[in-house]
Amino acid sequence: MKAIILLGAPGAGKGTLAEGIRSKTDYIHVSTGDMLRAAIKAGRETGLEAKAYMEAGELVPDDLIMRIVGERLSQGRETDQYMFDGFPRTTEQARLLDETLAKSGAKVDQVFLLEVPTDVIVSRLSGRRICKGCGAVYHVTNIPSKVEGVCDQCGGELYQRPDDSEETVLNRLGVYEKQTASLIDFYDKKGVLIRIDAGTNPQAATAELMSKLA
Ligand code: AMP
Repeated sequence: MKAIILLGAPGAGKGTLAEGIRSKTDYIHVSTGDMLRAAIKAGRETGLEAKAYMEAGELVPDDLIMRIVGERLSQGRETDQYMFDGFPRTTEQARLLDETLAKSGAKVDQVFLLEVPTDVIVSRLSGRRICKGCGAVYHVTNIPSKVEGVCDQCGGELYQRPDDSEETVLNRLGVYEKQTASLIDFYDKKGVLIRIDAGTNPQAATAELMSKLA
Protein backbone atom coordinates (compact mmCIF):
# COMPACT_ATOMS: atom_id res chain seq x y z
CA MET A 1 0.00 0.00 0.00
CA LYS A 2 1.18 3.52 -0.79
CA ALA A 3 -0.13 6.75 0.71
CA ILE A 4 0.35 10.38 -0.20
CA ILE A 5 -1.34 13.42 1.32
CA LEU A 6 -2.42 16.72 -0.18
CA LEU A 7 -2.09 19.27 2.61
CA GLY A 8 -3.15 22.89 2.45
CA ALA A 9 -5.72 25.43 3.57
CA PRO A 10 -9.32 25.15 2.38
CA GLY A 11 -9.33 26.59 -1.15
CA ALA A 12 -5.69 25.70 -1.84
CA GLY A 13 -6.95 23.53 -4.71
CA LYS A 14 -6.53 20.08 -3.15
CA GLY A 15 -9.63 18.64 -4.85
CA THR A 16 -8.75 20.05 -8.27
CA LEU A 17 -5.16 18.77 -8.08
CA ALA A 18 -6.34 15.41 -6.79
CA GLU A 19 -8.57 15.00 -9.83
CA GLY A 20 -5.66 15.92 -12.13
CA ILE A 21 -3.41 13.33 -10.51
CA ARG A 22 -6.11 10.66 -10.35
CA SER A 23 -6.63 10.95 -14.11
CA LYS A 24 -2.90 10.45 -14.79
CA THR A 25 -2.00 7.77 -12.21
CA ASP A 26 -3.41 4.79 -10.28
CA TYR A 27 -3.90 6.81 -7.11
CA ILE A 28 -7.30 6.46 -5.45
CA HIS A 29 -8.66 9.87 -4.38
CA VAL A 30 -9.90 9.79 -0.78
CA SER A 31 -11.53 13.08 0.24
CA THR A 32 -13.06 13.03 3.72
CA GLY A 33 -15.03 16.18 2.84
CA ASP A 34 -16.59 14.46 -0.20
CA MET A 35 -17.29 11.32 1.87
CA LEU A 36 -19.06 13.40 4.53
CA ARG A 37 -21.10 15.34 1.96
CA ALA A 38 -22.12 12.03 0.35
CA ALA A 39 -23.13 10.67 3.78
CA ILE A 40 -25.28 13.77 4.41
CA LYS A 41 -26.94 13.46 1.01
CA ALA A 42 -27.68 9.78 1.59
CA GLY A 43 -29.06 10.52 5.07
CA ARG A 44 -26.52 8.20 6.72
CA GLU A 45 -25.83 8.34 10.47
CA THR A 46 -22.27 9.65 9.97
CA GLY A 47 -23.65 12.47 7.82
CA LEU A 48 -26.17 13.48 10.47
CA GLU A 49 -23.41 13.53 13.09
CA ALA A 50 -21.13 15.64 10.89
CA LYS A 51 -23.60 18.15 9.41
CA ALA A 52 -23.66 20.85 12.10
CA TYR A 53 -19.85 20.93 12.41
CA MET A 54 -19.46 21.25 8.65
CA GLU A 55 -22.00 24.03 8.29
CA ALA A 56 -20.22 26.03 10.98
CA GLY A 57 -16.83 25.43 9.31
CA GLU A 58 -15.62 23.50 12.37
CA LEU A 59 -13.77 20.18 12.26
CA VAL A 60 -15.76 16.98 12.64
CA PRO A 61 -14.54 14.92 15.65
CA ASP A 62 -11.47 12.74 15.03
CA ASP A 63 -13.22 9.46 15.95
CA LEU A 64 -15.91 9.94 13.28
CA ILE A 65 -13.29 10.78 10.65
CA MET A 66 -11.17 7.76 11.58
CA ARG A 67 -14.27 5.53 11.36
CA ILE A 68 -15.03 6.55 7.75
CA VAL A 69 -11.37 6.43 6.67
CA GLY A 70 -10.87 3.05 8.39
CA GLU A 71 -13.95 1.66 6.64
CA ARG A 72 -12.71 2.91 3.27
CA LEU A 73 -9.22 1.43 3.71
CA SER A 74 -10.58 -1.90 4.90
CA GLN A 75 -12.43 -2.25 1.56
CA GLY A 76 -9.17 -1.83 -0.37
CA ARG A 77 -6.37 -4.14 -1.46
CA GLU A 78 -2.74 -4.40 -0.33
CA THR A 79 -1.56 -2.92 -3.64
CA ASP A 80 -3.77 0.17 -3.51
CA GLN A 81 -2.26 3.65 -3.71
CA TYR A 82 -4.14 6.29 -1.76
CA MET A 83 -4.14 10.04 -2.18
CA PHE A 84 -5.70 11.70 0.85
CA ASP A 85 -7.31 15.10 0.36
CA GLY A 86 -8.48 17.08 3.41
CA PHE A 87 -7.24 14.31 5.70
CA PRO A 88 -5.52 14.26 8.15
CA ARG A 89 -6.50 17.63 9.60
CA THR A 90 -5.25 17.24 13.19
CA THR A 91 -2.06 15.72 14.64
CA GLU A 92 -4.26 13.08 16.32
CA GLN A 93 -5.66 12.04 12.90
CA ALA A 94 -2.08 11.97 11.54
CA ARG A 95 -0.93 9.76 14.41
CA LEU A 96 -3.91 7.41 13.97
CA LEU A 97 -3.30 7.26 10.20
CA ASP A 98 0.31 6.21 10.85
CA GLU A 99 -1.00 3.46 13.16
CA THR A 100 -3.55 2.28 10.60
CA LEU A 101 -1.01 2.18 7.76
CA ALA A 102 1.59 0.45 9.93
CA LYS A 103 -0.81 -2.52 10.34
CA SER A 104 -0.34 -3.14 6.59
CA GLY A 105 3.40 -2.41 6.73
CA ALA A 106 2.77 0.93 5.01
CA LYS A 107 3.53 4.56 5.85
CA VAL A 108 2.85 8.06 4.60
CA ASP A 109 5.22 8.27 1.63
CA GLN A 110 4.96 11.91 0.57
CA VAL A 111 3.03 14.97 1.79
CA PHE A 112 2.49 17.77 -0.72
CA LEU A 113 1.89 21.14 0.89
CA LEU A 114 -0.07 23.39 -1.48
CA GLU A 115 1.02 26.95 -0.75
CA VAL A 116 -1.41 29.75 -1.69
CA PRO A 117 -1.61 33.37 -0.42
CA THR A 118 -4.62 33.99 1.88
CA ASP A 119 -6.26 36.66 -0.31
CA VAL A 120 -6.27 34.23 -3.25
CA ILE A 121 -7.88 31.56 -1.04
CA VAL A 122 -10.71 33.81 0.17
CA SER A 123 -11.54 34.88 -3.38
CA ARG A 124 -11.37 31.27 -4.67
CA LEU A 125 -13.72 29.92 -2.00
CA SER A 126 -16.28 32.70 -1.88
CA GLY A 127 -16.57 32.62 -5.72
CA ARG A 128 -16.72 28.83 -5.99
CA ARG A 129 -19.90 27.32 -7.48
CA ILE A 130 -20.67 23.61 -7.82
CA CYS A 131 -23.06 21.76 -10.09
CA LYS A 132 -25.90 20.00 -8.23
CA GLY A 133 -26.07 17.43 -11.02
CA CYS A 134 -22.51 16.32 -11.78
CA GLY A 135 -20.33 18.05 -9.16
CA ALA A 136 -18.33 20.09 -11.72
CA VAL A 137 -16.59 23.05 -10.08
CA TYR A 138 -16.79 26.64 -11.38
CA HIS A 139 -15.77 30.09 -10.17
CA VAL A 140 -17.82 33.23 -10.76
CA THR A 141 -14.87 35.08 -12.29
CA ASN A 142 -11.98 32.59 -12.78
CA ILE A 143 -13.93 29.68 -14.33
CA PRO A 144 -17.41 31.04 -15.16
CA SER A 145 -20.03 28.81 -16.77
CA LYS A 146 -21.27 29.95 -20.20
CA VAL A 147 -24.73 30.68 -18.80
CA GLU A 148 -24.76 32.07 -15.26
CA GLY A 149 -25.94 29.49 -12.72
CA VAL A 150 -26.09 26.62 -15.25
CA CYS A 151 -23.54 23.81 -15.68
CA ASP A 152 -21.83 23.69 -19.12
CA GLN A 153 -21.47 19.92 -18.90
CA CYS A 154 -24.89 18.67 -17.78
CA GLY A 155 -27.18 21.71 -17.61
CA GLY A 156 -27.51 21.23 -13.82
CA GLU A 157 -28.06 24.10 -11.40
CA LEU A 158 -24.95 25.67 -9.86
CA TYR A 159 -24.92 26.33 -6.11
CA GLN A 160 -22.62 27.70 -3.45
CA ARG A 161 -21.53 25.21 -0.79
CA PRO A 162 -23.10 26.43 2.49
CA ASP A 163 -19.64 26.54 4.07
CA ASP A 164 -18.24 28.72 1.23
CA SER A 165 -20.04 31.86 2.47
CA GLU A 166 -17.50 34.56 3.34
CA GLU A 167 -18.10 34.35 7.10
CA THR A 168 -17.68 30.56 7.22
CA VAL A 169 -14.64 30.74 4.93
CA LEU A 170 -12.88 33.01 7.42
CA ASN A 171 -13.75 30.59 10.23
CA ARG A 172 -12.45 27.62 8.21
CA LEU A 173 -9.16 29.45 7.61
CA GLY A 174 -8.88 30.15 11.35
CA VAL A 175 -9.55 26.48 12.09
CA TYR A 176 -6.86 25.50 9.57
CA GLU A 177 -4.28 27.76 11.24
CA LYS A 178 -5.20 26.52 14.71
CA GLN A 179 -5.69 22.79 14.13
CA THR A 180 -4.15 21.74 10.82
CA ALA A 181 -1.12 23.96 10.13
CA SER A 182 0.87 22.10 12.84
CA LEU A 183 0.88 19.11 10.47
CA ILE A 184 3.38 21.00 8.29
CA ASP A 185 5.95 20.69 11.05
CA PHE A 186 4.85 17.12 11.90
CA TYR A 187 5.56 15.88 8.36
CA ASP A 188 8.57 18.14 7.77
CA LYS A 189 10.28 16.51 10.77
CA LYS A 190 9.61 13.09 9.23
CA GLY A 191 11.33 14.31 6.03
CA VAL A 192 8.32 13.67 3.76
CA LEU A 193 7.07 17.25 3.20
CA ILE A 194 7.25 18.73 -0.31
CA ARG A 195 6.16 22.32 -0.96
CA ILE A 196 4.19 23.11 -4.13
CA ASP A 197 3.40 26.60 -5.41
CA ALA A 198 -0.37 26.36 -5.92
CA GLY A 199 -1.10 30.11 -6.04
CA THR A 200 -1.17 30.52 -9.81
CA ASN A 201 -3.00 27.90 -11.83
CA PRO A 202 -4.00 24.28 -11.15
CA GLN A 203 -2.33 22.94 -14.33
CA ALA A 204 1.09 24.31 -13.29
CA ALA A 205 0.66 23.02 -9.73
CA THR A 206 -0.40 19.57 -10.99
CA ALA A 207 2.64 19.42 -13.31
CA GLU A 208 4.98 20.44 -10.47
CA LEU A 209 3.45 17.80 -8.18
CA MET A 210 3.62 15.09 -10.85
CA SER A 211 7.32 15.84 -11.40
CA LYS A 212 7.98 15.30 -7.67
CA LEU A 213 5.81 12.21 -7.24
CA ALA A 214 8.08 9.31 -6.21
P1 AMP B 1 -13.42 19.93 2.72
O1 AMP B 1 -14.33 19.53 1.62
O2 AMP B 1 -12.17 19.09 2.78
O3 AMP B 1 -13.12 21.40 2.74
O4 AMP B 1 -14.21 19.61 4.10
C1 AMP B 1 -15.43 20.25 4.38
C2 AMP B 1 -15.72 20.13 5.88
O5 AMP B 1 -15.81 18.74 6.24
C3 AMP B 1 -14.65 20.70 6.80
O6 AMP B 1 -14.81 22.09 7.00
C4 AMP B 1 -14.92 19.90 8.07
O7 AMP B 1 -16.08 20.36 8.74
C5 AMP B 1 -15.25 18.51 7.52
N1 AMP B 1 -14.03 17.67 7.35
C6 AMP B 1 -13.55 17.15 6.19
N2 AMP B 1 -12.45 16.42 6.41
C7 AMP B 1 -12.22 16.47 7.75
C8 AMP B 1 -11.21 15.94 8.59
N3 AMP B 1 -10.20 15.19 8.12
N4 AMP B 1 -11.30 16.21 9.93
C9 AMP B 1 -12.31 16.93 10.44
N5 AMP B 1 -13.28 17.49 9.70
C10 AMP B 1 -13.25 17.27 8.35
